[in-house]
Amino acid sequence: MPLNKIKIVLKSGKDQSVRRYHPWIFSGAIKKIYGEPAEGDIVYVYDNKDEFLALGHYQPGSIAVRILSFEDIIPDKEFFRERIKSAMEYRKTIGLLDNDSINVFRLVHAEGDNLPGLIADYYNGIVVIQMHSVGMYRIRNEIASLIAEVMDGRVKAVYDKSESTIPFKSGVGGLNEFLYGKSDPVIVKENGFSFKIDWTTGQKTGFFIDQRENRMLLGEYTNGRSVLNMFGYTGGFSVYAMKDAVLVHSVDSSASATALANENVRLNFGDDKRHTGFQVDAFEFLDDIKDKYDLIILDPPAFAKHNNVLSNALQGYKRLNMKAIEQIRPGGIIFTFSCSQVVSRENFRKSVFAAAANTGRNVRILHQMSQPPDHPVNIYHPESEYLKGLVLYVE
Ligand code: SAH
Repeated sequence: MPLNKIKIVLKSGKDQSVRRYHPWIFSGAIKKIYGEPAEGDIVYVYDNKDEFLALGHYQPGSIAVRILSFEDIIPDKEFFRERIKSAMEYRKTIGLLDNDSINVFRLVHAEGDNLPGLIADYYNGIVVIQMHSVGMYRIRNEIASLIAEVMDGRVKAVYDKSESTIPFKSGVGGLNEFLYGKSDPVIVKENGFSFKIDWTTGQKTGFFIDQRENRMLLGEYTNGRSVLNMFGYTGGFSVYAMKDAVLVHSVDSSASATALANENVRLNFGDDKRHTGFQVDAFEFLDDIKDKYDLIILDPPAFAKHNNVLSNALQGYKRLNMKAIEQIRPGGIIFTFSCSQVVSRENFRKSVFAAAANTGRNVRILHQMSQPPDHPVNIYHPESEYLKGLVLYVE
């Protein structure tokens, strides 16, 4: 432990979750802070008998410390190199690193890769990073050069897109900028399909990589069906459906998303009349779709970002799913998702159950979906599991 380090002592009994390796310390667990840490400083955490527990990045607010290590080490460049290397080795193990048909994957998934506050997505040679903590943002240049180094010739540029993800209250105005190299938008391959990625204008880092395996599963059910892709964004699900569906409609309230969906369908299938993109509000569109579709995808944005709006969010999922279950053709299939971290798998399923019950139709669950292995769930941090979905068969 370095001199002049900042020490945080926890209240009696509040060390339990840290001893079970949960990577967050909530402000309510803190008994005393020795010194005045600035946002993003490294702090050292002790129990109330002065035993070392962990070290991490400090942040004023509900999550006071994001833990980097449960060992009393110095979190220097070598430390971050090893963590990033471990994330890279893991992607190699799961077959994503030098894969001929997939060159888009998540390289670093924050707590899931023991790097809280850091997201890094790989797009065919370009890495887009997003910092969710000031601690990570402060070392962004080091992180960018380490990613390039560890990826060993596979990275042409690293773009930092932290402007909207740095905690707003910190007053640290995050920037969107290249930290290493430069590149125009690129085309990536996912399971053989092509997608244009524009990280500067797109949502998140540019693409919803987390739906890769669920899009693959969708492809098993699209043959001969009329498909409605609600909240389509870049048209990810639509492109997979175009392989053998008779009709594909992509709906999104954003004009740029609709344009991108059209562009991605064109990239793979040319000017194919089976596809149409609609720029319209989802709830409005779903008011009158009776009997038109026999496969519907519902992948809305997170309805709840905080626990205090949980019940509204659950109502939202219920309302949305009810509209689809009510109107889908007999024998239809629904892919329905929630990406809200605060909505548990159990709660989501209950909302869909309530929606089905209101329609009175026979509904079977064909599959339960989750996030792919490049978005790993840290077993000590159940909150890293955020994406859940159900495939329903509606009789
Ligand atoms: N399914 C997509 C990701 C969806 S992200 C994929 O696989 O890539 C959620 C999308 O919902 C965003 O593109 C957003 O523009 C859109 N959206 C948000 N609110 C909406 C609404 N009320 N009606 C229609 N689209 C909406």
